[in-house]
Amino acid sequence: MVTLSRSNATELTAMLEHLTLEQEEPTPTLVERVIMGQPSDPLLTRYRDCIEEYGPKGYHIDEKGALRLGNQLCVPGDQAVRQEIIPEAHQTRLTIHLGASKMYQELCRWYTWLRIKIDVVGFVGRCLTCQQVKA
Ligand SMILES: [Zn+2]
Repeated sequence: MVTLSRSNATELTAMLEHLTLEQEEPTPTLVERVIMGQPSDPLLTRYRDCIEEYGPKGYHIDEKGALRLGNQLCVPGDQAVRQEIIPEAHQTRLTIHLGASKMYQELCRWYTWLRIKIDVVGFVGRCLTCQQVKA
């Protein structure tokens, strides 16, 4: 039987917390690219202007200057960025591929964009691994 000293246990707990954090939070570089892409999206720019004019209606600018709807980061219409965000939620760091509705829930914890669900369903439908599992 392995007994853990108090300091070992504390260390282990810290490690586990770190792991969980890594699994749950989106990749920082991806988040940064989303934020950087926001000003080039006409729709998001319009939302941003509205905030300045009428005050926030669910939307706000966070401390990094990023447009958010509640806690969700507004993803610009840049397909390249979306096509990176979606696979990240689909495969995560685990080996199982998430189904469309679970993935949608996961994504909505962090991100929002128009037609997000359609993009998610489309992506899962095209995933070769998922198609093989079903077959
Ligand atoms: Zn898949």
